[in-house]
Amino acid sequence: MDGLEKAKKILAEYDGPSFRIMEVCGTHTHEIFRQGVRKMLPEQIQMISGPGCPVCVTPVGFIDEAVYLALEKGCTVCTFGDLVRVPGTELSLQLARGKGAKVKVVYSPPDAEAYAKEHPEEQVVFLSVGFETTTPSSCIAVRNAVRDDLTNFSLLTANKTMPAAYDAMKDSTDLFLYPGHVHAISGTKACEDLVKEGVSGVCAGFTGKELLTALAIAAVEFPKGKPFFRNAYPRVVRPEGSPAAQAMVADMMEPEDAEWRGIGVLPASGMRLREEYADYDARKKYDIPAIQGHGNPACRCGTVLKGEITPRQCPLFRKACTPEHPVGACMVSSEGACSAWYLYNNKED
Ligand code: SF4
Repeated sequence: MDGLEKAKKILAEYDGPSFRIMEVCGTHTHEIFRQGVRKMLPEQIQMISGPGCPVCVTPVGFIDEAVYLALEKGCTVCTFGDLVRVPGTELSLQLARGKGAKVKVVYSPPDAEAYAKEHPEEQVVFLSVGFETTTPSSCIAVRNAVRDDLTNFSLLTANKTMPAAYDAMKDSTDLFLYPGHVHAISGTKACEDLVKEGVSGVCAGFTGKELLTALAIAAVEFPKGKPFFRNAYPRVVRPEGSPAAQAMVADMMEPEDAEWRGIGVLPASGMRLREEYADYDARKKYDIPAIQGHGNPACRCGTVLKGEITPRQCPLFRKACTPEHPVGACMVSSEGACSAWYLYNNKED
């Protein structure tokens, strides 16, 4: 019996206690739905989607800051495509385009730096959103800008790190399905430290086989009643992570308190450029005023991100809120829980 068949058998024959497992990664959320993983789980195992989509947890005020830079400061805003349609307090970047904002979709932070180099007449700001996996590439973009002597490139940062989110969510689940790509960078120390606090989890890859293997490990370990951590993605995740990426980020960025949509401010959970790189920090460069964003009060993104309700329990789901007409970030993003439920889930609740 190969590994996949063995995992399926363990899950199919599971007769242990009920438990909840929270996936803390938007890519996991979508792959779990796309590959029909939920349907292969016994009824005692409940999956919850947590705050793992970087676009979704970015607060409304960040979109307002980006719109401010585009419309008031005349900056060219470079961004990943998902952020363009996320509603701000009054405007999304897409709507701001209609008022003259220059918004360019790029595939990586270095692409934005390259654009700035090719367009010295424009002031270019990259919207730096993401977790441990994507933060190093923002640092590479700034390093390239220093190398190229650019004065027309900066970052608007909303980078975040996962350990504070694990801490904030640990009472909402029985164990975590840790995101493999995050821990490929940061290593597994945070997961092992949580075991000492009684918090269990399994680090998982992204294929059907990797997800089912991780869930089967959870099904084997959870009934034993002792906190545990297992790395079910060892071909990519090493205990020490990527020391080179960690060193580069530590050299260029420092932690700051950061707001997570729906969760609030989590201490030292954000990353900003260090003072040596202040010329590349858009908030300092453009002296952006404090902006308090306000989302649509009917949107339940915050409670979805905390795993307190499923998207189907939001009254706007599939009615006023669809991927074509998103009310909240969770329906816009390709990693958002609401878009995953919309695309793949017609029955479950
Ligand atoms: S379905 Fe739409 S309105 Fe409801 S929580 Fe999700 S994004 Fe917000």
